Order: sequence, then structure tokens, then C-alpha cells
Amino acid sequence: MLDVGRHPNIELMAYSDLVKLEGEAGNFTATIRKKARFVEEDRCTGCGACTEVCPTTVSDLYNEGHATRKAVYSWFAQGIPSTHVLDPDHCRVLTGKRCGVCQKKCEANAINFEQTDKMVNLSVGAIVVATGYDIFDPEKMPEYRYRELDNVITAMEFERFLSASGPTEGHIDRPSDRLAEQKIALLSKAFKKSRKALDRFEEKHGRTSQDFYEAFTANSLDAGQDLTKDAAKWAAKYQAHLEIETPLNELEQSAKGFTTAKKLAFIQCVGSRDLRFYPFCSGYCCMHSIKEAIIAHEHDNDTQSVIFGMDIRAVGKGFEEYKIRGGNNSNIGYKRSRVAEITRGENDNPVLIYEDTSEQKVKKEQFDLVILATACAPVKNTQAVAEVLGIELDRFGFFKTNPAEPLDTTKEGIFVCGCSHSPMDIPESVAQASSAAARAVQAVMKHKKAS
Ligand SMILES: Cc1cc2nc3c(=O)[nH]c(=O)nc-3n(C[C@H](O)[C@H](O)[C@H](O)COP(=O)(O)OP(=O)(O)OC[C@H]3O[C@@H](n4cnc5c(N)ncnc54)[C@H](O)[C@@H]3O)c2cc1C
Ligand code: SF4
Ligand code: SF4
Repeated sequence: MLDVGRHPNIELMAYSDLVKLEGEAGNFTATIRKKARFVEEDRCTGCGACTEVCPTTVSDLYNEGHATRKAVYSWFAQGIPSTHVLDPDHCRVLTGKRCGVCQKKCEANAINFEQTDKMVNLSVGAIVVATGYDIFDPEKMPEYRYRELDNVITAMEFERFLSASGPTEGHIDRPSDRLAEQKIALLSKAFKKSRKALDRFEEKHGRTSQDFYEAFTANSLDAGQDLTKDAAKWAAKYQAHLEIETPLNELEQSAKGFTTAKKLAFIQCVGSRDLRFYPFCSGYCCMHSIKEAIIAHEHDNDTQSVIFGMDIRAVGKGFEEYKIRGGNNSNIGYKRSRVAEITRGENDNPVLIYEDTSEQKVKKEQFDLVILATACAPVKNTQAVAEVLGIELDRFGFFKTNPAEPLDTTKEGIFVCGCSHSPMDIPESVAQASSAAARAVQAVMKHKKAS
């Protein structure tokens, strides 16, 4: 990405949409909408001072919702260009409220609340579509109880968990434990606040809240005028305090037993090789599950992983050896199986009910964390992109090509590469991208010669 950003012959138009395409191969006019960032790209240094002071916190989709970000942010730290952007749905100023502290803080004077979208026309000879993929939504398979069970996550979420810059800083904390810790933090705050209110009453009347409350509820309150005035309020505050204290104590007690997840289950083909969804193999998921299990073991040598799948498709140079190494050195077991259901076990542990197809037996096993290897699905806006480009999609929603010319879409001069064509891993996507770029050059040269 850095090379692309620095290349003198490449103009990078990030945060932009293609809205119209006219003309033909060799002579297209593409209309691009450069979306308003509300940050001047040529002034912003990416220092992040605005983010530090912004009071608005929202869910961070880059971290799959397991962390928060501010209303002025950069999508991820290494993004090119290293410009920040204001979120128009959450920024206080852009939603009609008072704020603007980021603008005051920005020494580069880059924040511009008045910025608007800009339309740009580009003359281009050829186009390469590289819009990639979306992960399959596992909620479509209710038997796996994704979102219902906190400790069932996708492989993409697990990637973020394994990352040192991710929400857990590389520790494999169970989501249910993290949620409990968030609840403890909220309850502790409420507990401190209610304790302060009780302290004021205790100081004023010279007795403990417990002593007062026992007398109040037994109707034996020997009350002076002052206490009679405060009694109902004090009792209500004390009751509310107890309602916080009990769950807080319970949660704090259970938090003492929290450890990182050590027994991991990976479920393959979630949405792939499944006639209800995508009948094809998503190609990369067997390898990314093995990779994730190996990294998890590198983080903590006690980690044990079981990969549940119909078979392991380690297709590629050195891939089979990688799979075997994972088994020998990283505590990974490969279970030929089909998982029928995940249920809730003790301590929020997911329980897998599966058929062991080697032994032809139905089995049950409890894990700390389950990771779903979701299918490679077409990007949600693919239909709209295809309409603007005037090209066709295949029956699954990926861009259609001729098998004999796998980079050529149904319109001359428009090429496709990577997962917007079909599932493939990074090396294959990169190789295809180079090929598509070469095809694009050929198309431009052909029309240059003809004119
Ligand atoms: C959990 C997980 C782990 C993986 N780990 C590995 C691994 O270790 N090694 C490996 O080789 N592969 C791995 N893969 C596969 C890898 O992610 C893909 O091979 C690779 O991302 C494909 O690259 P791509 O450029 O085709 O698509 P993408 O990486 O999806 O990039 C497409 C880009 O296009 C942008 N885009 C989409 N629509 C538009 C639009 N309309 N206009 C402008 N931009 C748009 C998207 O925002 C995105 O930035 C993994 C996949 C998963 C799910
Ligand atoms: S907008 Fe200003 S404060 Fe924010 S990152 Fe850019 S230069 Fe820094
Ligand atoms: S103006 Fe918007 S982006 Fe800037 S600090 Fe306030 S809420 Fe955050």
C-alpha cells in the first residue's frame, strides 16, 4: 500500500465511489464521488490529536465491534493515505449538536465541517475491479447460535483478537469474560456514586445505613425531625445500593476465575460446501484456521485446538507440510466431522454436538471458544457496482468471466481480480492483480494503436 501511495504514476482516490461509467474500452469516462471526509487531506498529518479529544465513542467495525473508536478516526493505523475522517452519523457537530473540540485542537487546521462531496471525471482506457469479498453471515445458520452465545465468534473476529493492536492486545480473552468485565466497570461506577450518597446521610445522622435501614423496615425508627424528612429517600438509596452490590459481588467473584481461552474449536465450511448457501469451497479457510491455531499456540503453549471439518483442504505448495507441523508442534487436532449444533454449557462454554464421521458416532465436547470459518461471499454492493459498470454477475453474485479468459468480465476493457472474481488467498489475489493489470495495459495499447 505504501508503494502505491508513493508511486508517481498512481493517483489514489480512497474514500470514493464510482457513480457513472460512459464510453468504451480505450476511452471510458468514469465519474467518481470523492466523499467528504470533513478533514482536509492535504493538511492532515495523521497526528491523531483530534481523536484524543473527541468525546464521542462508537463501535469500531474494523475491530469487528469488539472495541470502540472516536467520531474522528482513521480506519486502521497503517492506512494510506494516513488522513483522518469524521463520521457524519456520529460527530456531534455534523449531527446538529455543539462541540468542535477537534477543530480547536488540530494544529494543522485540517478539520472542515463545511466540506462537501466532490464529483471528479476521469478519462481511463481500462478498468480493473478488485472489490474483494464479504464474510458470510453465520446468523443464517441458527444451529451455531452466533451472537446468541458470546463465545462463538468468526475467524475474522479471532484475527483481531490475535493481533497485538487488536481489542485484546493479542490475548485470547473470552468475549463473555470481557462483557462481564465491562459490566463490573459500570456497576462499580454506580456503586461508588451510590456509596457517596449514603455517606452524606450517614454523616448527617451519625449512624450506618444498615442500622438505619433495619430500624426503618422494622418500623422501629426512633426518628428526630431531620431523619423523618430524609428517611424515605435514604431507604430508597440504600435499597438501590443493595441492588447494585449483590450482582457486583457475584460478578467480581466469578471474574477471579477468568483466564484466557485455552481450548479452541474451529468449525470449517460455515456457509461453504453447503447447498443451502454456497456449494463451493472458499479455498483459504482451512489454511487460515490452521494459521490462527498455530498463532494461538505461540501466544500460550497450553492452548489446544481442534479443527472440525469434512476434510482439510491444504491445497498449495508447502500447505500440507504446514498442516502436519501444526498437528505435531502446535497442539492441533484435526477431526473429520460435521458439527450439527452448538449449545450453551457451564460457565458460558460452547458445547459442540457433532458427528465424528471416522467413527460414525455422535459426540459432545465443551470448548472455551468456538471460531467459525465463514464462507467467502460477494460484497454486499456488488450488484450496484455491476450496474454502474454494465457487467454481469455469476449465479453466486461474483463478477462473471469466461473460464477461458478468467480476468475478462462481460464488457471489453473491464477486468476483475481477487475475491471479487471468486474465493482465493492473498498470493493468488496478488498474482491475479498483476495479470489483470497486464490485461488492462493490453486493452489500452490495442485501442491506442487502432485510433
Ligand atoms: C479470517 C480470514 C483470515 C485470512 N487469512 C489469510 C492468510 O493468512 N493468508 C492468505 O493468503 N489469505 C488469507 N485470507 C484470505 C484473504 O483475506 C483474501 O485472499 C484477500 O483479502 C483477497 O484480497 P482482495 O484484494 O481480492 O479482496 P479484499 O481484501 O476484500 O479487498 C477489497 C477491497 O475493496 C474495497 N471495496 C469493496 N467494494 C468497493 C467499492 N464499491 N468501491 C471501492 N472499494 C471497494 C474493500 O473495502 C477492500 O478494501 C483470510 C481470510 C479470512 C476471512
Ligand atoms: S485532523 Fe488535525 S489533529 Fe486530526 S489527525 Fe489530522 S492533523 Fe492531526
Ligand atoms: S466535532 Fe465531532 S469529531 Fe470533532 S470532537 Fe466533536 S464529536 Fe468529535
